[in-house]
Amino acid sequence: MEHFQGSCHCGRVRLSLRDTPVEATACNCSICRRTSGLWHYCSPAHVEVTGVGVAYRQGDRALDLWHCPACGCTTHWTPTDPAYPRMGVNLRMFEPALWRDLPRRLVDGAGEA
Ligand SMILES: [Zn+2]
Repeated sequence: MEHFQGSCHCGRVRLSLRDTPVEATACNCSICRRTSGLWHYCSPAHVEVTGVGVAYRQGDRALDLWHCPACGCTTHWTPTDPAYPRMGVNLRMFEPALWRDLPRRLVDGAGEA
C-alpha cells in the first residue's frame, strides 16, 4: 500500500496516510463550513501524525479538530473516544492530484436538508 504524505502549510504538522481515498467528503456543519475541510475518513491505524497540533473540541461533539499552531491549517480530526474506529484527514493537506478529481460526498452536518 502506498503511503501518501501531507502537511500543513508550514510543515510543522505532517500526515502520512496508508490508505487510498476514493471519495472526498465535504460537510456543511458550523465548523466545516468555516474550515472548508475536505475529509477522508479512515481507521486511525492508517494515519501517522507527526508534529504537535492544537485540538479544538466543539461543544457537544465527540471529536477533536486539529490545527497547526503556526500556520493555522486544519489537518485532521480524531474521536475523543479512543475506541472509536474512525478519524478524518483533511485531504487539502495533500497534493491536489490525490483528491482533486475524486467524487464529492456532501454530508448535511448542519441539518439543512
Ligand atoms: Zn503549519
